[in-house]
Amino acid sequence: MVYKKISVGFCAIVVVVIALGVSSHRQLSGIANDMDSLYKHPFAVSNAANNINFHLVSMHRHMKDVVLAQNKEQVEWAVSRVAAHEQAALTDFDIIFERFLGEQAQINKTYQRFVDWQPIRNEVIKLVREGQQQRASVITTGKGASHVAKLNREVGALVEFAYSKAQQFHRSAKMRKEQALLTNYGISIMAVILVALFSIYVVRSLRAANKDRSRRNHLIDQQIMMATIDKSGNVIDASNALCRFLGCVKSDLIGEPSQFFDNSPQGGQLTKEILRVVSTGMEWTGEIQHSNAEHQTFWAYSSVLPNFNDNYQIVDYTNILNDVTNKKLSIVDKLTALPNRRSYDEILSKELRLAKRHDYNITLAIIDIDFFKKFNDCYGHPQGDIALQRVATKLMECLKRPSDYVFRIGGEEFALVFSRATIAESQLFLDKLRTSIEYLHIEHGESNISDYLTISIGGYVLMPPQICDSQAFYVEADKALYEAKKQRNFAVVTGTQKG
Ligand code: GH3
Ligand code: MG
Ligand code: MG
Repeated sequence: MVYKKISVGFCAIVVVVIALGVSSHRQLSGIANDMDSLYKHPFAVSNAANNINFHLVSMHRHMKDVVLAQNKEQVEWAVSRVAAHEQAALTDFDIIFERFLGEQAQINKTYQRFVDWQPIRNEVIKLVREGQQQRASVITTGKGASHVAKLNREVGALVEFAYSKAQQFHRSAKMRKEQALLTNYGISIMAVILVALFSIYVVRSLRAANKDRSRRNHLIDQQIMMATIDKSGNVIDASNALCRFLGCVKSDLIGEPSQFFDNSPQGGQLTKEILRVVSTGMEWTGEIQHSNAEHQTFWAYSSVLPNFNDNYQIVDYTNILNDVTNKKLSIVDKLTALPNRRSYDEILSKELRLAKRHDYNITLAIIDIDFFKKFNDCYGHPQGDIALQRVATKLMECLKRPSDYVFRIGGEEFALVFSRATIAESQLFLDKLRTSIEYLHIEHGESNISDYLTISIGGYVLMPPQICDSQAFYVEADKALYEAKKQRNFAVVTGTQKG
């Protein structure tokens, strides 16, 4: 809409400027034409008419010379002067015939009177040549003089007409000049007003757009968790919302390796995977886990998108995150970040259904930390929490397949669910798990069976068609745990499977 208005404004200015140009051209052409006409017609005619009058006076004077001449040579000289002026007058008549703007009859009449003077002139010359100076003088001063006087007046009328024409042209040029000034001033003022209004509109629109943009940028900065990451995975920029989520300030992040904000033990592996996907120009989406300095865990749904330059080369990445911690907390245990009891109920039922449908073994193992009460009493509850986290992380690391699950189902109790293993295979796997916990070397001075924290495991392998419900399954695994607890740091696996 704004662009349309700006285009219309530009067009209007262009139209006004063109109008100004056309009007100036027309007015100047008019003035030039008037000046041209002034020189071509009235000036030329009045000059020629004044010349004729001069030649008439000269002709008349030389006619007197003819009459007063003392000898023949003087007569002939005066006659030649008369002829020369007569010829010059005729040339001037040609100019008048060509350029006179008034009635043609007026020139014809004057010209005729000029021609009518020739017989008078001829008679006088003839009389002088015959020696009758007296009669010639009478004609020259009488008839000749009055003819010349009439001719002078008529030529004078031509001069007057030319003068009035000159006045007319001059007035017209002056009028045109005033009109031109008025029109051009008018159009110029209009153009200036138009440009001023247009400029105000453009400035206002730009200001509004800028304000809108900064408001939007501020909103994005405050509400959307977003970061720009360079091709090596370092942070270029991060929004305030993201800083709040991560519990840090912008300067802590800029230039530092991002690990795409996943600082869980799997973060390094995940970063490689994300970079692998996005470096091919694809978008990566998934969940990331972030723990702050107080060991609180947060989850975010993360999208990483590549940014391209004009040559379609990747410049950097945009990482947009969505806090899903609350949603996650309903199914995840906050301390260890493992799926909680609720997840256990859901997933175990689902896995039991799948095992029944596809006819394969399913193992449930209950894990319980040995002498944990004593551990707490000895090292304090916070150390107990850290030990629980370390055990949980180790359990998670031991799972290899996507269909292997670990849950925290109680205080220091965990559950493991995995499929397609026999009793012997389950026993082997759970024994490995048990030793790997002992190898964490979490000191336990109060344990009766080891220097380090240990676990006991009770496992039960269900084999089709004896698949039972999840509660009965738990009871069987718990029985095995009871047996294991008789020794501690021990794994007992039983099951419905034969052999
Ligand atoms: P046993 O070898 O027979 O399993 O002995 P135990 O002491 O581990 O068993 P018991 O069930 O008597 O004690 C479990 C203890 O686990 C009690 C409780 O203080 C501790 N515990 C449960 N949840 C947490 C927790 O979230 N953090 C910490 N630090 N301790 C917990
Ligand atoms: Mg217990
Ligand atoms: Mg215990």
